[in-house]
Amino acid sequence: MADTVWVLGDQLNRRIGALGGIEPGDATVLLVESGAKLAGARHRQRTHLVVTAMRRFAAELAEAGFDVDLRSAPTLADGLRDHRRAHEPSQVRATEPNSHAARTLMAREGVATVRSDQFLCHPSEFAGWADGRAGRRLRMEDFYRWQRTRLGYLMDGDEPAGGRWNFDTENRRPPPKHANPWPDPVRSRLDEVDRSVLAEIGPAGFGADPVGWWPTSRRQALARLRHAIEVVLPMFGPHEDVIVERSWHVAHTLLSPALNIGLLLPDEVAEAAEVAYREGRVPIASAEGFIRQIIGWREYVWGTYWREMPGYGERNALGAHAPLPAAFTDPSATEMRCVSHAAEGLHDRGWLHHIQRLMVFANLSTLAGVEPKAVVRWMTDSFVDGDEWVMLPNLIGMGLHADGGQMATKPYVSGGRYLDRMTDHCGSCRYDPTKRAGDDACPYTSLYWDFLDRHRARFAKNARMAQAVRGIDRISDLPAVKARARDVRRGLADGTI
Ligand SMILES: Cc1cc2nc3c(=O)[nH]c(=O)nc-3n(C[C@H](O)[C@H](O)[C@H](O)COP(=O)(O)OP(=O)(O)OC[C@H]3O[C@@H](n4cnc5c(N)ncnc54)[C@H](O)[C@@H]3O)c2cc1C
Repeated sequence: MADTVWVLGDQLNRRIGALGGIEPGDATVLLVESGAKLAGARHRQRTHLVVTAMRRFAAELAEAGFDVDLRSAPTLADGLRDHRRAHEPSQVRATEPNSHAARTLMAREGVATVRSDQFLCHPSEFAGWADGRAGRRLRMEDFYRWQRTRLGYLMDGDEPAGGRWNFDTENRRPPPKHANPWPDPVRSRLDEVDRSVLAEIGPAGFGADPVGWWPTSRRQALARLRHAIEVVLPMFGPHEDVIVERSWHVAHTLLSPALNIGLLLPDEVAEAAEVAYREGRVPIASAEGFIRQIIGWREYVWGTYWREMPGYGERNALGAHAPLPAAFTDPSATEMRCVSHAAEGLHDRGWLHHIQRLMVFANLSTLAGVEPKAVVRWMTDSFVDGDEWVMLPNLIGMGLHADGGQMATKPYVSGGRYLDRMTDHCGSCRYDPTKRAGDDACPYTSLYWDFLDRHRARFAKNARMAQAVRGIDRISDLPAVKARARDVRRGLADGTI
């Protein structure tokens, strides 16, 4: 009776946790494909990504000499029980799972867990950092500097490389008028494995079929990493916050799907960026900005998830109860150019860059008062990289202000003028970002003033919001703006705006 190591679909790496250090013959490796997930409502490219990557990983392990049990079952628990019946393992162990629900399942089913090193900061280390701050805010920037110092990325002795911790002021530039300097992403040709997975998925789920953007093996993921470091990273930063119709990816690395299922690990990604900087191939502002995303934001979000679970997904500090806008799932249900463009991209690829997620979708959801749970459910189902640990902090904390300001001191809200500055949508849109009332007023602009007015009491004493809140008093047509905001909310719900 050999031991079993159970590997979940987002832990596909030989280096981590329970798989780390074991050799063929030491244990049987179990992977369970859950039928419920295969037939679920998620984006077809997400289902395809995870199932195909699991099958390729199982094949790689078998080729390396491991005894592999890759099985399908209605649920993960069913698969485990079937495996136990067939193999009678003396013990089943697994790397600590990446979701609260899976950890509960492991405990319930008597699976021993091995500490996870899939992230750079274990939740217990994050708790140690957070507890040590005794009542002070848990700022990402403080966490990031702590990570840099203790892990040694971009450090020259005790000092940050380049003499500064943060080069963000050199980023945030508006989009160039016409140029399209951003390199095409790597694409893989689909093979027999891809095609058989797609045939099994059938018509289930949402969105277009994959065309090869998302890597489904370690080899494909490493090719994306090389491209990201050598070709994309030198341009990373200046246009991090722009949206242009001529490029769906701009200078983003597209690494999140591979990172989130374990095909890449954060240390190798951050190290590759550091080497490129040290060898003079990447400017410090780009290397620093990127490493901040990997060892800062990503790990901060991971630590926040575990600190706030369970119950994090229930937060709704702004008392938002509006339904999900129809256009989020149907691009033809709106004439707002930025929203229909983002919804089309989501349908086609299951991926949008950070600013579309934040400035277009989360911003509109907060302004219109959409129920946080509905936004979380829709985004989790719609994105190829949508995992609960990353979705909840980014939405409940950062995007929707549903935690009441615990993670971000102010809500991420803006009217149409800011969208006009950072995107190239407004010129071809039927709505005018400078107008706040009337039928052609940009919905973001009308909703922005209405939001500030509705939450005036809450934000008047917020140092970062007070000036904006005072601005309402200078608006002479507030009743007309609020009437327009009511129409906009109705139009978002029924798909007529
Ligand atoms: C409302 C909202 C929802 C989001 N949902 C997800 C999600 O479901 N899954 C997901 O992986 N990311 C999510 N993010 C974070 C971020 O938008 C994506 O990680 C990023 O767009 C992925 O594209 P990229 O790999 O090209 O990123 P790049 O811009 O190239 O950044 C490099 C890497 O940094 C990491 N990173 C950067 N910002 C964050 C962040 N805020 N949180 C976590 N990791 C970060 C990612 O691993 C990313 O691959 C969300 C952000 C927002 C505002």
